[in-house]
Amino acid sequence: MTVRVGKVEFGGADFIVIAGPCAVESERQIQETAEAVARAGAKMLRGGAFKPRTSPYVFQGLGAEGLKLLARAGRATGLPVVTEVMSDTQVDLVAEHADMLQIGSRSMGNEALLTAAAASGKPILLKRGMSATVEEMAEAAEAIRQHGNPQIVLCERGIRTFGTATRNTCDIVAVPLLQRLTDLPVIVDPSHATGVRDLIAPVARAAVAIDADGLIIEVHIDPDRALSDGAQSLTIPQFRELMDDIQPFTEIWSKRRAEAYACA
Ligand code: PEP
Ligand code: MN
Repeated sequence: MTVRVGKVEFGGADFIVIAGPCAVESERQIQETAEAVARAGAKMLRGGAFKPRTSPYVFQGLGAEGLKLLARAGRATGLPVVTEVMSDTQVDLVAEHADMLQIGSRSMGNEALLTAAAASGKPILLKRGMSATVEEMAEAAEAIRQHGNPQIVLCERGIRTFGTATRNTCDIVAVPLLQRLTDLPVIVDPSHATGVRDLIAPVARAAVAIDADGLIIEVHIDPDRALSDGAQSLTIPQFRELMDDIQPFTEIWSKRRAEAYACA
């Protein structure tokens, strides 16, 4: 099935790239990023306002102010926006500003949040829990659907393993598994799946080749000064390079999708 967010359609004829900073930090930062990623071909803007951080001593996001800045940057560039909602009590506030609600890895199994997010009527980007199996993820999606909201896009963002070379281990095979288990669009987040800037392009190419429905990529105007996830954030020129890099692959992807539609 396809999932619509404004004029963007996941699971359809176009490969969808969502891009933006890990966190909204300032009006200038989100505005400049939005303009640059839109020009480079991103179809949606991301940016966290409420950040689920493992440490209480680091930046927690701009909160409501961040939501407003994100929505403004989205309107200015024509990009629908996605941002994380961390608790059921935040759903109304986040849904007021966002076109799509992101349920983060740490929240995939939060039943109260899944229920409240479903009730908002907004399309949902459900990220895989870092220790969740593909079956558990499919069940979380099913819970949202049973609460009346079938507009769900799944996101493979890496899982915890014994490997230490990357932040998480990208479980690329989860893409076709989840597509078959759920019939929902599945995108890949190479930024959180690797935690390493230089690994984003190869994982992104793999995601296109394995027939994912899109990507979500962290981009920052000055990653060295980013308040969160700088090491895995692409600069704007690097994001442009990434889009060029995946272009021959997305061309083949589009042809295959068109053929699949013609046969169906
Ligand atoms: C994020 O998208 O910035 C994020 C916190 O992702 P995850 O929930 O996958 O860790
Ligand atoms: Mn992040």
